[in-house]
Amino acid sequence: MSEPTRFSNFIRQIIEADIAAGKNGGRVVTRFPPEPNGYLHIGHAKSICLNFGLARDYGGRCHLRFDDTNPLKEDIEYIEAIKEDVCWLGFDWGEHLYHAADYFDQLYEWAVKLIRAGKAYVCDLTADQIRDTRGTLTEPGKESPYRNRSVEENLDLFRRMRAGEFPDGARVLRAKIDMASPNLNLRDPVMYRIRHEVHHRTGDRWCIYSTYDWAHGQSDAIEGITHSICTLEFEDHRPLYDWFLDQIDPPHRPRQIEFARLNLSFAVMSKRMLNELVRDGHVSGWDDPRMPTLAGLRRRGYTSEAIREFCERIRVARADSTVDMELLENTVREDLNPRVPRVMAVHRPLKVVIENYPEDRVEEVEAPNFPDDPPRMGLRKLPFCRVIYIERDDFMESPPKKFHRLSPGREVRLRWSYVIQCTGVVKDERTGEVVELRCTYDPDTLNAPLPEGRKIGGTIHWVSAAHALKATLRLYDRLFTVPNPAGGEADFKTYLNPSSLQVLQEALVEPSLAEARPGDRFQFERKGFYVVDLKDSQPGMPVFNLIVPLRDTWAKMVKTGQTE
Ligand code: ATP
Ligand code: MG
Repeated sequence: MSEPTRFSNFIRQIIEADIAAGKNGGRVVTRFPPEPNGYLHIGHAKSICLNFGLARDYGGRCHLRFDDTNPLKEDIEYIEAIKEDVCWLGFDWGEHLYHAADYFDQLYEWAVKLIRAGKAYVCDLTADQIRDTRGTLTEPGKESPYRNRSVEENLDLFRRMRAGEFPDGARVLRAKIDMASPNLNLRDPVMYRIRHEVHHRTGDRWCIYSTYDWAHGQSDAIEGITHSICTLEFEDHRPLYDWFLDQIDPPHRPRQIEFARLNLSFAVMSKRMLNELVRDGHVSGWDDPRMPTLAGLRRRGYTSEAIREFCERIRVARADSTVDMELLENTVREDLNPRVPRVMAVHRPLKVVIENYPEDRVEEVEAPNFPDDPPRMGLRKLPFCRVIYIERDDFMESPPKKFHRLSPGREVRLRWSYVIQCTGVVKDERTGEVVELRCTYDPDTLNAPLPEGRKIGGTIHWVSAAHALKATLRLYDRLFTVPNPAGGEADFKTYLNPSSLQVLQEALVEPSLAEARPGDRFQFERKGFYVVDLKDSQPGMPVFNLIVPLRDTWAKMVKTGQTE
């Protein structure tokens, strides 16, 4: 995109006010804190663009911090994928790569400090009992019978929890706040659980692991984060975030600010659901081009510029909403249109023999790579000869009135070439299917305007039979058939679109595409934007993924005068 869009928002206003007031010495330090339990999706991209964008625009820095406090669900594969995706989006954390696990010692010390101050206690209730005594929004909770243990006993039990004396689930450490608080997060929340698990960074050094709430704000404080930006579901956690900071009283005091997460229609964005799609084989992997993951969108052919632009356009606000998939697709079209060359690809080929064209003649016709701006990227030569292929659905034997393509007796323009007329139809004797057309061409019409009053059908694309390359085209559609698959009555998987992937193995593309490399993008005339698949494409056997179809192509071509 030439000029990326930049909108102001309430977070920018907060930061500008903080800078003006000299808070944090004018510094702006943000972080993006993924939990490494899945691949990043386009919702995360919103958070990445926001956090790294603020750091960029206010001369600050943004940390990448793995929020790896839960050893059960985390995986090195995810860590590597997350780093790759953040880089691909165009952001750089420089030296500032961190892990919550790096702070386990500090967090433990602070927990001891809370115990000493009478602000935390070891509780022997089970997880179920803790849930059952928590109360509701209208009823206060019940105090744990272990709440008033002495500091000495708590210190001793907590030390023994860490030393591995107790089995998983036997005890937890809880903050001692207020079981009657209207905010459920303040009803003695759990800070540590016992889990005899190996952690990818700390190995078996720990068998107690902290909760998100006890780790997050403290990690922010340790790193000197000034503005800790998270999604709205953490709004109710903010009093706890602040309460913990009050207890440890760190030199740098971060401020939590919440914004609305991105919801996208026709997609699911929860990592649990995405994981399920991968695990149960509904998609080919986290990078399946139908997935809303950054790895999937990249393989689909979306550019990082388009995703960044999309993240600007959806704005940052405090009200939850769902963004229409259309907006993403339109942003991608706008991004690709000026920069992707146009070529011809016949999706479902129908053979055409041009009877009055000499048998052994091969002619080269010239085609601009950027028809809207021909001088820019020059011309390429397309071989033209007696046998060509056109799109099967560009022909109808008995067309309705509005059909502007080829039918018996009618003429059409072959893009960048001659006008042909259909003079005959060859059918399969058994099935009656049209298998070949007989045509004649008008030698005076090569790329020439037609005389006033000569009415023909539209302009159609084609490839030379002798020169075209075979290609596989993967036509992708939305993964779900309903706008809100996660919010329906039934399991979200019941709304999977059974035709979200269609594979065309007999497609023919123009010979210039022999040079195409994985990741190269093209606009197939009248069809859509395609990318050479990063994984499955082989030299001589290209596989193209549909990035996004053109919208209402025909109307557009008529408007810009590209049809006669
Ligand atoms: P899930 O709920 O699917 O498990 P998550 O929010 O727990 O996802 P994290 O890895 O914890 O995933 O997210 C890292 C950061 O990305 C967090 O700051 C989170 O608020 C933000 N984020 C996650 N999903 C979205 C979204 N849809 N829109 C904007 N930001 C998001
Ligand atoms: Mg999370």
